Order: sequence, then structure tokens, then C-alpha cells
Amino acid sequence: MFRIGIGNDTHRLVAGRPLILGGVKIPSEFGAEGHSDSDALAHALIDAILGAMADGDIGSHFPDNDPRWKDSDSLEMLSRTAMLMRLRDLSLVNADATIILERPKLRDYIDVMRATVARTLDVEVSSISVKAKTNEGLDAVGRGEAVSAQAIVLLSDKNS
Ligand SMILES: [Zn+2]
Repeated sequence: MFRIGIGNDTHRLVAGRPLILGGVKIPSEFGAEGHSDSDALAHALIDAILGAMADGDIGSHFPDNDPRWKDSDSLEMLSRTAMLMRLRDLSLVNADATIILERPKLRDYIDVMRATVARTLDVEVSSISVKAKTNEGLDAVGRGEAVSAQAIVLLSDKNS
């Protein structure tokens, strides 16, 4: 049996914060505001995997009022999510994600993000797609005030 899940995440961009996407630090004047390291790509992937398992969302597993997750490494949360998946005998078939960010351009970082996410989820790089686009100057993302990410995953159930 296959299970599909979708995830979506947005963070406000502010000066003096790092911009981390898929566990990769991107040189940028502005970074993502939030409780953890605010990695929108990792968060969208976590929500997509939890969604495929019909097991709540990132907020229920990693509450942002829990000091354990303050400024935490989102790859650690992604890795724990992958563990939950494996405990249910589910494996990731593939993930596809889109990051929407006006600047900087992400082209040079896409492959290292794919490799980092693949390593964290313990899958082949060919199973992880990361795409990047802008919002053509429209809305808060287009004005450079926010970064957004969307992810969709397919899980396979080994027992059915
Ligand atoms: Zn987030």
C-alpha cells in the first residue's frame, strides 16, 4: 500500500537570523524568524511525512513551547520523523519539494540540500527533488518578507 502526504511552511524573513533550508546554511542578508532554526524546507517535509502517516503535524510532535526545540536543528526533527516512519514499517518512495524565495537565488545550493535531506532520511538522492522559484514580486514572499516551502511525499507500507 502507498500513502501520500503534503506539507507547507512559511517563515518571516528578518535581519540577523541565519537562512537555513534543507539543513544548508544559505548566505543571505535576511534569515528565517521562528522558534527553531526555522528551516522551512525541513518543516514542510516533516509535515508531509506526518501527514502521510495521518499522525498529526510538526506542532504536535515538536511543540514550539518546548524548550527542547528552541533554536533546534530541524534536521534532528526530520531524522526523528523518519524514525517514526520506520517504526511503522513505512519507507519513503520519493519526496518532491518547492521552495519559494525571492532572493538569494538557490540554484547553487539545490544539490547539497537534496543530498543533506536524503542522508537525513536515509534514502537515495534520486528520491529527493528540491525545486526553487520566486513569487514574481507578488505578496509577502515576492516582497522578500518571507520564505515558503511545499513538499509532497509518497510512503510505501512494507506489510500490505
Ligand atoms: Zn517552520
